[in-house]
Amino acid sequence: MFRLVYNLSITLKKMMNMSTEKFHVGKAVIRLVQGDITEQDIDAIVNAANSSLMGGGGVDGAIHRKGGPKILEECKRIRATEWPNGLPTGKAVITSGGNLKARYVIHTVGPIWRGGNHGEPELLAEAYRNSLKLATSKGLKTVAFPSISTGAYSYPVEKASRIAIATVKEFLETEDKLDMVVFVLFTRHDFEVYRNAAKEIL
Ligand code: ADP
Repeated sequence: MFRLVYNLSITLKKMMNMSTEKFHVGKAVIRLVQGDITEQDIDAIVNAANSSLMGGGGVDGAIHRKGGPKILEECKRIRATEWPNGLPTGKAVITSGGNLKARYVIHTVGPIWRGGNHGEPELLAEAYRNSLKLATSKGLKTVAFPSISTGAYSYPVEKASRIAIATVKEFLETEDKLDMVVFVLFTRHDFEVYRNAAKEIL
């Protein structure tokens, strides 16, 4: 009995927290959800990595923890071959999803916020664009993004959300290979900010 009540309360809580919103761009869908990106059952999730590709805190740490050592092994190989000095800001690379439900992880590096006059908007747009390009070049159909740069890298989420939504919209308008792009927002506040940006831009 206790277990039943306990499970019911968890389900209810989940239902209450389950915010989701859907927008259409051409044939594709942009979906906003509040949740944990490591739980997404999708072709690829995007990691807000740092240029070392050796893991870190925030969403990066969560992805490596849940995805297991295979992802780090592949990142090390990329560092040893393609990017010996680290992955530059705005670029993207792909590894398998390890133990995650997602088949692939696309690692990109967003800009660190330094006041907004150091190319941050263009670099953030590049991170989204290059991740999407990589996904389509691999024939993937569905991609999930976290809110790149708005955690440890301090990019103001109101500004970042507009760039994220506008860049994805532009990409989907110029090419029709993707079916769905999901923004997975970790907090209720971020979800609301992204929803407002999406309502304005989409
Ligand atoms: P950055 O260094 O690019 O700022 P962070 O990982 O510090 O990257 O933060 C980026 C965003 O990811 C933040 O909004 C943070 O709340 C969010 N985040 C952290 N863990 C997760 C997760 N498991 N799923 C989705 N988003 C997450």
